[in-house]
Amino acid sequence: MIEEARNSRLERMISEQLADRGITDERILNAFRSNPRHLFVPDSRSHEAYSDRPLPIGEGQTISQPYIVALMTELLNLEASDTVLEIGTGSGFQTAILGSIADKVFTVERKETLMERAKKVHKELGFDNIQYEKGDGTKGWEEFAPYDKILATGSVPNIPDSLLDQLGQGGRLVAPAGERRQQRLTLIIRNNGELTKHKEAYCSFLPLIGEEGWNG
Ligand code: SAH
Repeated sequence: MIEEARNSRLERMISEQLADRGITDERILNAFRSNPRHLFVPDSRSHEAYSDRPLPIGEGQTISQPYIVALMTELLNLEASDTVLEIGTGSGFQTAILGSIADKVFTVERKETLMERAKKVHKELGFDNIQYEKGDGTKGWEEFAPYDKILATGSVPNIPDSLLDQLGQGGRLVAPAGERRQQRLTLIIRNNGELTKHKEAYCSFLPLIGEEGWNG
């Protein structure tokens, strides 16, 4: 597809799927511009890259719907100085959005092939503030804790204790928590040692499989 047509699809996605639904933070909208979604989907799906839905990325996984990526990013209230932990790298699209706004991103993925592909795309885009770990992210990534922000991009039955333990003072955690087929985006804020929980939009994510997630 020629560049111009692609840019106009990207701009239409930003205005119709994000801005018209209330995502107004220019840092988030600009991150969608600097990380064109078509780079994160398989070539065979490239023509659908700006559609309003998740898309298969291989290994039985999907890249999330653009609006959901924007909404989760907004709920995190990112600051330029933030260190962020992301669980479920997948295509690496959400990782790139986080990495464009925050200072550092630590991302954990269970599937090696997805992690390697995401790494490659990030390298092409010039990121140097993302670190990767292959493993079970439901246990977090202890080594670099505490994190200012934590985001799970796969569902959990309950918010994993390890993730709560690795959330710093004033930190915010966002995760889809609930049933296997449907969850609520859940926002946890740590303030003066106290955790408050806010239930946001209904959503449907693929499961995080792991010790503090689903069994498989
Ligand atoms: N944010 C990604 C969404 C990927 S779907 C995107 O938009 O592309 C969820 C991802 O979580 C999948 O890639 C899956 O392999 C991964 N995953 C599942 N269980 C996991 C676990 N315990 N730790 C880390 N990643 C996990």
